Amino acid sequence: MPASDPRRRLPALERLLVLPEVVRLLSLYGRERVAIQLRDALAGLRERLAGGELAGPGELEAAVAALPGAAATALAAELGAPLRRVLNASGVLLHTNLGRAPLPRSVAAALPGLLDAGCDLELDLASGRRGDRNARAGALLAALTGAEAGLVVNNNAAALVLVLATFAAGREVIVSRGELVEIGGSFRIPEILAAAGTRLVEVGTTNRTRLADYERALTSETALLLKVHTSNYRITGFVEEAGAAALAGLARSRGLLLLVDEGSGLLRPHRAPQLADHPSFTALLAAGADLVCGSGDKLLGGPQAGLLCGRAELVARCHRHPLYRALRPDRTVFAALDGVLRAHLAGDGLPLDRLWPEPAAHRRRLERLAARLGAAIVPGDAYVGGGAAPERPIPGEILALPGGERLAARLRTGEPPAVGYAREGRCLLDLRTLDPADDELLAAAVERARAGLDEG
Ligand SMILES: *Cc1c(COP(=O)(O)O)cnc(C)c1O
Repeated sequence: MPASDPRRRLPALERLLVLPEVVRLLSLYGRERVAIQLRDALAGLRERLAGGELAGPGELEAAVAALPGAAATALAAELGAPLRRVLNASGVLLHTNLGRAPLPRSVAAALPGLLDAGCDLELDLASGRRGDRNARAGALLAALTGAEAGLVVNNNAAALVLVLATFAAGREVIVSRGELVEIGGSFRIPEILAAAGTRLVEVGTTNRTRLADYERALTSETALLLKVHTSNYRITGFVEEAGAAALAGLARSRGLLLLVDEGSGLLRPHRAPQLADHPSFTALLAAGADLVCGSGDKLLGGPQAGLLCGRAELVARCHRHPLYRALRPDRTVFAALDGVLRAHLAGDGLPLDRLWPEPAAHRRRLERLAARLGAAIVPGDAYVGGGAAPERPIPGEILALPGGERLAARLRTGEPPAVGYAREGRCLLDLRTLDPADDELLAAAVERARAGLDEG
């Protein structure tokens, strides 16, 4: 290659690999993958040079400067970008696509020390003997709900499968036609029942099911009555259902079990009007349900987990079932859940409570950000999300900025990413789903996103 050949002006791969933007990629994707990307990109430039391209002043330099960014995009497309912290200003607190419940900050802050060394997950430190990983959470769940015992598995679907497999394998389970729900992500009650090896017996109609419908469906094959909280939709109008207390009475009189899938992990009643008719674990157990199950990462505000509460002897049978081993969570879940359950027991607010902020403090928060960003304060609804309290908006005030979807898209792709929503040409930000400690980060993200819009 003659000295005048422009290909000589291409940097060597080794020089690219020490650029700070590239070094950052090495820790995300490994040297081998990054090197392959850059080598291919350099080869592309070499070809373009050979073809007489990139001859203008500064053109080659610009193309070289763009290499790390292009490599980052290509590697993210190939291997997936790492998980990132996202500022949730969407107005939906339990946003399934954002990982459902945010953990309380104090709980999250305590996790690293429990995860990067050993922890006494199932070692009794006093005796040196093996303990039970479920013992703490089980006792805390019992204390919070009034149950005799509690058991934790990987998610609520797992809790249902475990109960059904333990008590109803090969037998019949009676469910109201009004409660054969589908939850996002392909969870369907009929399919869960089938997967657990039980036979579904549907009773009643979509809008009305009475106790007598259950009674008529009882056979010698019946093992269990299942009541499912229809958490993600509402049927209104000419409706009727058999309540937990009535079903518990029927189950008891026939020597059967009543399992209630409460769904959302509301352990105790909540004062919010949007949750007023949402039955809690405590209420369902008091009404006589033998077992109640729900999710850990919805209303409770914990990690993904299935919470099962009820009579000690029944919970113990589930615990002993061979499937439990396949469904039990790891220490990450127990560590987070332990913190959340203790905070709940101590009467600390749940992340959920953010949706009903103290009005004066919330107003100050809105005004501070509105003044800084030149935003308007407009009426807007928030939602619990996670399938809980659908059709139950929580009215309040939110921030409105011009820019609509263009600004919303910029915010999502910023650093840190922020999620708001666009409506009628405006970009709306709901502070109720954001930890107040993140207000400054959100304001800065908006300022950067707007600067980007002005440029582009
Ligand atoms: C959310 C929900 C489930 C599924 O819970 P996962 O923890 O996501 O498995 C099941 N039943 C009801 C009623 C629910 O609301």
